[in-house]
Amino acid sequence: MVVEPGGCETIALPVSNTATGLPASLYVRVLHGQRPGPCIFVSAAIHGDEITGTAVIQRLLPKLDAQTMAGTVLFLPAVNIFGFQAHSRYLPDRRDLNRSFPGSAKGSLAAQLANTFLKEVICHCSLGIDIHSAAVHRYNLPQIRIAPDNAPLRELAMLFGAHAVIESPLRPGSLRDIARGEGVDMLLLEAGEALRFDELSVRCGVNGVLNVMAHLGMIQPHPEATQVTIPARSRRSIWVRAPRGGLCVLQQKSGDAVHKGDIIGRVAGIFGDDPEDIRAPIDGMIIGHAVLPVVNQGDALVHIAEVMRFGDVEQRVDQITDGLLNDRLLDEDELI
Ligand SMILES: [Zn+2]
Repeated sequence: MVVEPGGCETIALPVSNTATGLPASLYVRVLHGQRPGPCIFVSAAIHGDEITGTAVIQRLLPKLDAQTMAGTVLFLPAVNIFGFQAHSRYLPDRRDLNRSFPGSAKGSLAAQLANTFLKEVICHCSLGIDIHSAAVHRYNLPQIRIAPDNAPLRELAMLFGAHAVIESPLRPGSLRDIARGEGVDMLLLEAGEALRFDELSVRCGVNGVLNVMAHLGMIQPHPEATQVTIPARSRRSIWVRAPRGGLCVLQQKSGDAVHKGDIIGRVAGIFGDDPEDIRAPIDGMIIGHAVLPVVNQGDALVHIAEVMRFGDVEQRVDQITDGLLNDRLLDEDELI
């Protein structure tokens, strides 16, 4: 299928054949701008239960018009088509799609899906924005992860406008790893919780994609796309784990600045006995936390990023906390 300049089409890319014999397809919405420009993709739910990006894409589409746009955007709201339906991170063959690149047409189900995504989408683009959330029972403060030591990519990551930018090594077989080999720059947004939508994360994703598209000259700066904060930058983050099994109550959450030695929570036994403090091992900002109170010894509870300019973080904490509180109000309104 050819999508003409100024056109918008949904394309089903054939991937495989399922157990029932039905064809499995990867759906892509193509917006081909009237004017020439870069080709980028925005992908969601590579881990099938991480659906924040699906909401981001849904909210972005009505804001974009191929008739007035430059360049092309490929939107993939549910890359892991199998896990998405099953509310699972994985595929039916129990593989992790984000460890299955480059894949192959004759390989496992995950390998076929990874290969289709690589050949039909990634290889046609100069930039990708891949949206994830925390794993189940965890929350991630909106943060952009990028490959280290890539100055132009760092500039894009900063203007995206998430609360933190983390430069982290690439995992072998991941989308970011294989995209770099193809010369495709990748911004990975981590935001929110698996199997949930939260307003702060969705809004951050929408504004971030619009900020990047405007910077690349694909759209006019969008009136709603404002950079709320200067992101905290980090090259190192650590997980703090449960010192014992039991019930965990966190006193500090994502977005909070912490100093080494601060008490960030407590784990006690099921009768409330023998509580043990959880202390921050470094100065930094909390970028992720567990939301399930029932923990085994060693469970990851709080993710702390060591930040480069600590003063900036402390000033911003109130802003982020306000955002989180507003989200809760929004969520309650939606329930009604
Ligand atoms: Zn993920």
